[in-house]
Amino acid sequence: MTTLTNPFEIARETLRLLATRRIPPTPDNYLTLYHEIAGTKPSTDSFPEKQMRSLAAALPKSTPEQLRLARQLDEAVKAANWEDYKNRLVDFISALTEAQKLAWSDVITDLVRQWDAKHVGLTIARKRESLEHVLTASGANPETLFNRLQNLLRSWGQGKEDMASTGEVVPSEIHPSTMSTAAHADQLLPELRQLFAFTLETSISTQLLESPQLAGDAKALATDIRSANSVEEMQGFLTRLKRFAFKLELLAEDQAELRHSLLGLLSLLVENITELVLDDRWLHGQITIVRDIIEKPLSQRTLDDAERRLKEVLFKQGQLKASLSEAREAIKHMLTGFVDQLADFAEATSDYHDKIEDYAGKISAAQDIAALETVLGEVMRETRNIQFNAQRSRDELRSTQKKVHEAEQRILELERELETTSDLVRHDQLTGALNRRGLEDMFAKEIARSKRHETVLSVGLLDIDNFKKLNDSLGHDAGDQALMHLARVCRETLRPQDTVARYGGEEFVILLPETPLDDAAIVLSRLQRELTKKFFLHDNEKILITFSAGVAQMAPEDTPAVVIKRADEAMYQAKQTGKNRVVKAP
Ligand code: GH3
Ligand code: MG
Ligand code: MG
Repeated sequence: MTTLTNPFEIARETLRLLATRRIPPTPDNYLTLYHEIAGTKPSTDSFPEKQMRSLAAALPKSTPEQLRLARQLDEAVKAANWEDYKNRLVDFISALTEAQKLAWSDVITDLVRQWDAKHVGLTIARKRESLEHVLTASGANPETLFNRLQNLLRSWGQGKEDMASTGEVVPSEIHPSTMSTAAHADQLLPELRQLFAFTLETSISTQLLESPQLAGDAKALATDIRSANSVEEMQGFLTRLKRFAFKLELLAEDQAELRHSLLGLLSLLVENITELVLDDRWLHGQITIVRDIIEKPLSQRTLDDAERRLKEVLFKQGQLKASLSEAREAIKHMLTGFVDQLADFAEATSDYHDKIEDYAGKISAAQDIAALETVLGEVMRETRNIQFNAQRSRDELRSTQKKVHEAEQRILELERELETTSDLVRHDQLTGALNRRGLEDMFAKEIARSKRHETVLSVGLLDIDNFKKLNDSLGHDAGDQALMHLARVCRETLRPQDTVARYGGEEFVILLPETPLDDAAIVLSRLQRELTKKFFLHDNEKILITFSAGVAQMAPEDTPAVVIKRADEAMYQAKQTGKNRVVKAP
């Protein structure tokens, strides 16, 4: 067989032999046959084994994954399989870049921050223990370590969030050193958010003890700012923050007003204390009021109420005290006069006795009837005088007795009135609800408040159903008890800021601040339900009291009279359409 030298011919011959010998046409078989025909040796240098092996040796083998990939590379070199080697190498490089992609700096920053922060039920010792566990279990594999560390920090972070919601944030959570590491805006933003949330939670919410609602708002805002990530969320947060700031401003205004009233009240007390200490009983009323104020949570409403009461009590008591002193003075004057007269009378009678003795002497010494007549004449005159004096004294005594009795009655009356004055100035004596005058004051106050805060004020007017029948069947006293019961249930059911006033016999007006019409109707219906649950007991018999009510919402131009009229018309409609109902005024 002639040796072929032309590569084309060698190639053609190779293909032919592959076919005739039925050898699978793989590149390797082709190569072996090609060299056999050409009479050449296959080149072993086509796979740079040495270079490839040294390259594989230089690759890092610090993780089990890298070791596994390195072994596969070795096998590819051994097999001189370029294709396999190439794939393994690509795998190896991808794994390396993947590992490098792990955001270690973020995890470490987070670890430092969380290590210093306080977490619910997590001590530093517990943290160290769990960190050591993660390190020993996955320290050799950065990827596993990274993932496990992330999970660990996330679980710590959840503990911290729980704390935030209970308000127990500890200042070390905001560590100043973490601020300095936050070099650019992206890192600064989370720090700022934390700081802002912390400020809201601690400084503001603790200042808002008097206003639980605002304190709750502050906490909710703090929780939201922590989780706000997108621009939209931040914008939503900003709108709510503005609203919150506005409410805070109103609260500050209220508090300034509160302080002002408090000072006014104190100076009023101080100014009048010298007046009051004259008599313990007078002091008593005032002391009770002051004690009441101190017991209630301090608000503009309670202070205004107390101030008005105190002023009225002082005025009324001042008047009564003046009358009382006058009456006492009059008695003293009368008694002094009477004693003087008694003394005069006694003097006159002893004078008379002396004279009678004198006349008796003269009578026994009288020698003739004429002398006796003269003496008798003198005796008669003296006796008439003394009789006249005695009569006068008796009359005067009677009139003085009468006057003293009247004065005593007046004093008793005044004292009784005085004792009850403190309680009765603006409140209905029977039910303890405000009376008409009290309602007038409160209405003015609530209207001003609703205008200032731009909130709505609704008014309810209720009238007991078939009250006449109750009076007729159970008696007037039972009727009175029923009225007291209704007022008590109102107070127990309504909010502290709502006002209950007795408007007429069995009619009550209720002021509902910050309550729109629909809600006001719901409130009145709830009151009706409460009345069916809390029975009025009369002689151990359960008496069901129902009422009909009308509610109206105050329009800006409305006066109290106008809005009460609208509520009254609605109440009338409730009566007309079956009673025990609530009707909303248009
Ligand atoms: P309606 O359901 O239509 O309101 O019927 P009513 O019987 O309740 O209506 P009306 O207004 O005619 O009756 C009210 C009664 O309330 C008349 C009055 O004697 C009684 N009343 C008013 N003030 C008092 C009070 O202080 N004590 C008692 N016991 N009854 C009072
Ligand atoms: Mg009536
Ligand atoms: Mg009635």
